[in-house]
Amino acid sequence: MSDWIVAKRPAGEAMVGVIGAGVMGAGIAQVAAQAGHEVRLLDAREGAAEAAIAQIAKSLDGLVAKGRMEGGQREALLARIQPASAVAELADVALVVEVIVEKLEPKQALLRELDALLPAGAIIASNTSSISITALANGMRNPQRLVGMHFFNPVPLMKLVEVVSGAETAPEVAAAIFELAARWGKTPVHAKSTPGFIVNRIARPYYAETLALLLEQAGQPAQLDRALRGVGFRMGPCELMDLIGHDTNFLVTQSVFEANFGDKRYMPSLVQKALVDGGRLGRKVGKGFYEGLPAAAAPVAAPAAAPRHLVLVGAGPLVEGLGRWLSHKGLSFTRETHSDWDGLRVGDVGLQLHLSTGISAAQLAFTRCHDALAVIDWPLAPDKIDALAYAAAPKLAGGQRALVEDLLRALGWEPLALRDVPGLVVARTIAMLVNEGADAVWQGVCDEAGADTAMKLGVNYPAGPFEWLAQLGSGPVVQLLDGLFEAYRSERYRVSPLLQRLRWGA
Ligand code: NAD
Repeated sequence: MSDWIVAKRPAGEAMVGVIGAGVMGAGIAQVAAQAGHEVRLLDAREGAAEAAIAQIAKSLDGLVAKGRMEGGQREALLARIQPASAVAELADVALVVEVIVEKLEPKQALLRELDALLPAGAIIASNTSSISITALANGMRNPQRLVGMHFFNPVPLMKLVEVVSGAETAPEVAAAIFELAARWGKTPVHAKSTPGFIVNRIARPYYAETLALLLEQAGQPAQLDRALRGVGFRMGPCELMDLIGHDTNFLVTQSVFEANFGDKRYMPSLVQKALVDGGRLGRKVGKGFYEGLPAAAAPVAAPAAAPRHLVLVGAGPLVEGLGRWLSHKGLSFTRETHSDWDGLRVGDVGLQLHLSTGISAAQLAFTRCHDALAVIDWPLAPDKIDALAYAAAPKLAGGQRALVEDLLRALGWEPLALRDVPGLVVARTIAMLVNEGADAVWQGVCDEAGADTAMKLGVNYPAGPFEWLAQLGSGPVVQLLDGLFEAYRSERYRVSPLLQRLRWGA
């Protein structure tokens, strides 16, 4: 079976069946019809397909009103979508996209029925967000024609489609769906069927590290959100979890954790469980981490005194970026390139601000026998951030703590004083996102470009894991993860073999 109809025929001659007329099914039907396919939309619930078509008509009205679609196009698009009332009516389609409830048994039953009904050249795709394509194909006579076609919500707007291959999926089937998704105006990426595919897997640390910080009472949700918004994430993890809904997010986390046989890397958090148990499900119920919308961040206060003699210590992309930012802010400094630490020193008082290496300020002060010390977060985008997290060593004098805050304010960053946890916020989050991306590539789930594209288009990240890696180099990322691994003595922070090899120049 290699003559796949959707690959050979123009859209007008390749009918598409969509089964499940919920939020996602309606969006997929719209996008297929927009690309010129005749679409048959089927739902087990009576009237659901008709209601979905009415909903599509309404959203097209919005496009026409905004001048983004002509009335004639709207009519033609709608005329191409027809409701179906039984699976048997889909016998002529070139492609079926299964978009029903997220449960293994009903999906498997439907896929087997379709497999028995459809002609040899028809492809069967599933929009499952978490079920293994390999497991869905089990029991099909032609498992090679099943492929994951994972769209993101809202389908007409979100560009990404993960094209997911199970163990039996024929490479030509994945290639045909990849090309089809591109013709539908989407940006497809290939993925191997593993828990969470690409996006829902690599994104786990974005939530998990913040939840771990909250469990340790490192800071307030608003502080952690502000730190991460600053480096370009559209929403901080807490406000994003409030938006997604803690019940939904908790379920995805649990499913990825269980699917990985309890790997600590993906362990759900007691913080989120407490929110779910207490009904603080997020915005949809008016309370989660925030009651209503998060309050606007306070502006950066003016520094009390001009910083004194500054020394930029160490080398590497973060130090160079810091140096450029000091110059931009008109702060003069001298350089000390050869050092066993990176950061800033206030020369005349010996105050050291160490860029985080995943080691707490307390441990650094103890091992270096130097009390006048604080750890600062990674200023990944010095020109964009408006706040920077820091943690003071236990014996840092009050006056020197004020000096740390004045210095950060002189750099244009509101100081976010956190409890002295290793890795602070941005550093540990970015390092763990890079690590997860690296493991996904090492395990053949996707390639580097696919990981970057998926994270930027699927969840609007400001950069992909490999773009951050290119910016930082493997050295600081591995050092930070090793610091966390030591601090927590936890497999959660084990370094991906891919990052280790890069570190060794392999
Ligand atoms: P939904 O509940 O809005 O819609 C599911 C529809 O399927 C319902 O209308 C239901 O009546 C129908 N249905 C259930 N069993 C059926 C059957 N045997 N035959 C025909 N119709 C049946 O759900 P949704 O949010 O559209 O999600 C559908 C699928 O898409 C799930 O697999 C989900 O994991 C996946 N997905 C959802 C999102 C999202 O953000 N909602 C994103 C990506 C993928």
